[in-house]
Amino acid sequence: MTASLTFLGAAGTVTGAKFFLEAGPARVLLECGMFQGLRELRARNWAPPPIDPARLDAVLLSHAHIDHSGYLPRLSRDGFRGPIFCSPGTADLLRIMLPDAARLQEEEAEFRNRERATRYQPALPLFTEADAARALALVRPIPFEHPVEPAEGVTATFHPSGHILGASIVDVQAGGRRLVYSGDLGRYDVPVMRDPVAIEAADTLLVESTYGNRRHPADDGTPVIVRAVQRAVEQRGVLLVPAFAIGRTQDLLYLLRELESAGRIPDVPVYLDSPMGTHATAIYARHAEEHDAAARRVAEAGGEPFVPRGFRVARTREDSKRLNGLEGPAVIIAGSGMATGGRILHHLRRRLPEPRTTVLFVGYQAAGTRGRALREGADRVRIFGADVPVRATILATDALSAHADQAELLRWLGGFRRPPAATFCVHGEPAAAAALRDAIRAQLHWACEVAEDGARTAL
Ligand code: ZN
Repeated sequence: MTASLTFLGAAGTVTGAKFFLEAGPARVLLECGMFQGLRELRARNWAPPPIDPARLDAVLLSHAHIDHSGYLPRLSRDGFRGPIFCSPGTADLLRIMLPDAARLQEEEAEFRNRERATRYQPALPLFTEADAARALALVRPIPFEHPVEPAEGVTATFHPSGHILGASIVDVQAGGRRLVYSGDLGRYDVPVMRDPVAIEAADTLLVESTYGNRRHPADDGTPVIVRAVQRAVEQRGVLLVPAFAIGRTQDLLYLLRELESAGRIPDVPVYLDSPMGTHATAIYARHAEEHDAAARRVAEAGGEPFVPRGFRVARTREDSKRLNGLEGPAVIIAGSGMATGGRILHHLRRRLPEPRTTVLFVGYQAAGTRGRALREGADRVRIFGADVPVRATILATDALSAHADQAELLRWLGGFRRPPAATFCVHGEPAAAAALRDAIRAQLHWACEVAEDGARTAL
């Protein structure tokens, strides 16, 4: 039986991950990501699927991020009825992420129709909440290290990759060959998550390359967090943290609690003003089996790893609005992480004009976002149609990244006992993927290529 793999996304780009595995009659899709970002990429979500969803046996999913899972509702709408295998943590996160992605799609279509800002009449959502519910009904959680048979003659095992809760390295046997896909790889010695599991062998290896040309800062992010909290206390102001609901929000809550108990910051009220972040934090707390030793020790000693002393949750929209009257010092964590939407916007509009406000960015800020403009020192930003002057102090750190940098990717690759017959760099912008390929060739002396979109390779 011969087996082959076709790259249908995340080849030369970071979004839209889809790898199509054929082994004899078996047809399995590895990842089912949505394309995001540039218009040409997003248009690909609307093209007819390059494979017939009804003829797929199963989907294997590395983790819940939308660039890996967001096309699932569309796939099920277009006829896919097979099982979707993923880790238990991923399954739980999908239950909040897919309906949320559907709501965004429906809101955007509604907005375009209202504003007539569309070339298509009427504008339609890529998928709806009903499509998301149909996809969720197909999800089958499989514990780490338990092999599953997604199709006849194919077995798959999930190993923790340390990137976010549930994130997996996917290890597939098909046609007598072993295909290892790194998924998104996390980092070593970071809070909460364990290190990526080392893999010793593969015939074909797909390795992500998001930061294949980058080196993260050597510090763990705590110096700038300490500085930001101290400034809020000195100024009796509010520290605003725009944060991604999944991963970054939990890291931040964990670090604030650690810094408090180590006496490095004073106790301050910490408001989590993000419904999705609140939900995700509960899921993180529930999956203690995925925490590293330090986080587990906190729980074993009777503590709650994600609960700083002054922790409060703003649940409703009214709770959120009431924070407008809040006097500092206090911390408000709210989405979205790049200040492109969500509750952080009304906090920024209210508090950016005040010099006693501090804003701390803890994640990547894409070009064209308000977050990027603020990080680059803009003296005013547009929010809800108003010109908002920026008199707050803006701080940022890249140390809380959830992706391995080049050195960490090479460290994980160093776990292989012999070179895979073929290695492909996936999930990276062209420069990042090429830089990782060059480093793999130069330092490991492996045969390595950047995956080419649409290309098919024998395993
Ligand atoms: Zn990811």
